[in-house]
Order: sequence, then C-alpha cells, then structure tokens
Amino acid sequence: MVELPTRHLLDIASLADSSIEKLLRRTAALAEGAAVTPIDRTVANLFFEPSTRTRVSFELAAQRIGMRAISIELDRSSSTKGETLSDTAATLAAMGVDCLVLRHPETGRCHALAGEIGPGLALLNAGDGSGEHPSQALLDAATIARHGPDWPDLNLSVIGDIRHSRVARSGLALFRRLGAGRLRIAGPPELLPDSAELPGVEVCHSLPEAVDGANVIMMLRIQRERMDKAGWPDVERYHADWGLRETVLARARPNCLVMHPGPINRGVEIAADVADGPRSLILRQVRMGVFTRMAILEWLAGGLPAS
Ligand code: ASP
Repeated sequence: MVELPTRHLLDIASLADSSIEKLLRRTAALAEGAAVTPIDRTVANLFFEPSTRTRVSFELAAQRIGMRAISIELDRSSSTKGETLSDTAATLAAMGVDCLVLRHPETGRCHALAGEIGPGLALLNAGDGSGEHPSQALLDAATIARHGPDWPDLNLSVIGDIRHSRVARSGLALFRRLGAGRLRIAGPPELLPDSAELPGVEVCHSLPEAVDGANVIMMLRIQRERMDKAGWPDVERYHADWGLRETVLARARPNCLVMHPGPINRGVEIAADVADGPRSLILRQVRMGVFTRMAILEWLAGGLPAS
C-alpha cells in the first residue's frame, strides 16, 4: 500500500481550492453550531514567539473537537539545552503527538521542518517570521464571508506594516484566490513590500487614498520585533499619518468594516474609538478564530494515517 504524504498547513499557495472551500464551509457550519465528532488525537502547541489569540484558540479548538491539547513551555523545554527543532518534533511524535502547531521567528522554518520530519506528524504553521500565517488568513476570510460584502464586491485595504506582516501575505493571497474585487495596501514606504511580491494588489501612498471607497479596512501593527530599533517610527507621527481615526474613516463607504488581527496598539495604528466602535470586527475575528481552527484540526486529522 502506498502511504499518502501527511497533510500539513504551511501556507496559502499549497492549499488546493477544494480544501479552502471545505475549510471555509466547515468553519461557517461550526459557527452556526454544527455538531462535532470527537477526534482521538493529540495536538501540541510549540511557540517560539509570544502569542495570546493563536495559541489559546488552537488549544480551545482542539478541546472542543475532543482532541488532547498541550502547550509546551519553551523556557522549560529541552530547546534551551540545545535540542534541534526536528529532534524536538521527532520526540513529540514518538510520544504520540499527531499534530504540531508551530510558531517560529524565522521565515520558512515551518516549511523546512516539514521536509525534516517523518510521516504521521501533521504540521501547522502558526506564523513563521514575516512569512505566512494561514490560519489567520482563513479566519479573516471566514469573518468577511459572514459579516462583509460578497467577494466580487469586496474593496479591501490593508494598512500599516505590510513588509513584515505574515497576516498580510497570507490574507492577500487567500482573498485574491477567493475572487476579491479590489485589494489595496498602504503604509510608509519603508514598511511596504517589494512591488513584485504581491501581484494583483494596488499600492497607495497615503492613508486617505487607501481608505477612499473601501468597504473593509484591515489595520496592522508595526512589527517592532522584526526591525532594528533605529527603524522604529515615532509613535505620534505614525498615528497622525497612518492611524485609523473616525475622521479618516469618513472617506470609506458607509458601513465600512474594520479588521485587525491583534494585538492592537491603541493610539498607534488605530484609535481606541474605532477599535471599539460599531464597525469593528476585531472581537468577531477572534471568535471566528476558534471555529476556523476547529475546522483546520479536523482537516489535518483527516489526513493522518488511521490511529
Ligand atoms: N498576531 C499576528 C501575528 O502573529 C499579528 C501581529 O502580531 O501583529 O502575525
């Protein structure tokens, strides 16, 4: 019998259209209260960067579908004694971990690990440096599908530190594949990606230009941890130029929705009254994150050899 390769979720490009459709359909059903069949599998969270939403929602999602979930405390793990990541992964797999949720500061580390590990351990990229964050993209797409315009009518602007953002990279790739009508990015020149990196996405050079006519706006935090301190923008200046405030939002379509993957920095990329206002989807994104991750874990478990 030929063994099929273990299913991983590493990025948007390697997800088949049929898988995207399946994952979004299942997320929507779970958000509506669809029943789940308990899955006798174990998931481990291994986070080499801080996280609140992603780590907790994977843990909750696993529990809600009957999986065992453990979060490894890195400062107490053997990685502090020099163990390589692939040895840590192999050790966890030998103990019966079926699915590894990995966050790592190095871009591409999760893809590299997928080539290093043996079959039978499903790998989920929960954010690799400035690379990809596919579960965030799926939850954002599920949130837009539930609360926002239809894909062809979507006029979405992503604003802020695009250069270092794995959320922007995965999200824009996914929204384009779903048939988004218009996609724009905007931010200070030093925080924009190289132009060839995001085909099909328009670049705006001021906040008003990016907000003009948008029906969904996604604000992003400045990823200070990926820059030299000398490159950190002045907060007040940044807020004046790029912070989303009610006065600027008036240029968008009426009922324009506001998204942010969190953590939000109030008074920097977004004013508190916008973050807490009626157009904000921020907490709905967080809520959808749990349903999305339930769907992803079910899908990954479905690609594992029979237990
Ligand atoms: N939570 C998101 C991420 O891990 C966004 C951010 O940190 O700004 O990429």
